[in-house]
Amino acid sequence: MSASCLFCKIVAGEIPTTKVLESPNCLAFRDIGPKAPTHVLVIPKKHYTSLNDLDDPALAGELLTMARDIAKSEGRADAGYRIVVNTNADGGQTVFHLHVHVLGGRAMKWPPG
Ligand code: 5GP
Ligand code: ZN
Repeated sequence: MSASCLFCKIVAGEIPTTKVLESPNCLAFRDIGPKAPTHVLVIPKKHYTSLNDLDDPALAGELLTMARDIAKSEGRADAGYRIVVNTNADGGQTVFHLHVHVLGGRAMKWPPG
């Protein structure tokens, strides 16, 4: 836990959020500023500043699998969805606790801006 980290505070229950799914190592909750009809963030409960710091392949698999399960449970699997991991400045990361975006419910542009 990083005392100043927003998502660590969400894991600790210090900041309210709309939980979607939880496992022993991961938590999924709705993005406060949704960029698509479905916009869920999947995070490891343990603090990693970005994908650059993730040293646990099993946890990477858990995050990706939970993201896929949420796309399915939100009814987005057949039409399609996008999984995004913004990393550092050029990647557009604004919250420095590793998170996986699950976006669905509208057609996504490619390439992203
Ligand atoms: P990033 O730009 O770092 O990839 O994504 C951070 C995301 O966190 C943004 O989509 C933003 O809307 C979301 N976010 C920022 N603060 C909060 C918060 O307090 N609660 C929730 N649920 N989402 C947040
Ligand atoms: Zn954190």
